[in-house]
Amino acid sequence: MENINVLINKARIEKRIDEMAKEIEKDYEGKEIVFLGILKGSVPFMWELSKRIKNDIIFEFIEVSSYKGTESTGTISLHKDIKNSIEGKDVIIVEDIVDTGKTIDFLLKHLQEKGANSIKIATLLSKPSRRVIELNVDYIGFKIEDKFVVGYGLDYDQKLRNLPYIGYIE
Ligand code: 5GP
Repeated sequence: MENINVLINKARIEKRIDEMAKEIEKDYEGKEIVFLGILKGSVPFMWELSKRIKNDIIFEFIEVSSYKGTESTGTISLHKDIKNSIEGKDVIIVEDIVDTGKTIDFLLKHLQEKGANSIKIATLLSKPSRRVIELNVDYIGFKIEDKFVVGYGLDYDQKLRNLPYIGYIE
């Protein structure tokens, strides 16, 4: 494996997730929240974020894919849909990284007829310079420059998701 450089270390990630959790608790006071994680990359972030929030949280997962290796195919396909109804629920889509915005745009359209009361987006990372579709992302952990990052859920050919930090490959 190529050299992996640390971009954001574990302590910084956890401090920022603490702040995001407080913000979400304030915005959703006393409400039940459905955390809709996008498999597989959102898993570590979703766990770290949800365990810091006192509200009732329901976990749901959806699986889509758009990436092969380090290049986006640009086409999104749905592999696993949600089983339970989200009608009338307050949903937060939890994502590892928003890059072009195509995945979130696809999901927002897909979820449209499911009748949620509200849908917001929380992402650990965002690459604003890569955006093709303008989106309002409600909770952003870190804005990063255009680098291919790995770790904390993010993979390189399905590996490196378990790194406890965000790194980039030279
Ligand atoms: P978008 O649809 O916004 O272009 O891309 C979102 C998805 O692309 C993310 O969920 C993630 O799977 C993948 N992706 C985008 N940038 C990166 C990156 O720097 N590293 C990795 N590992 N995946 C990325």
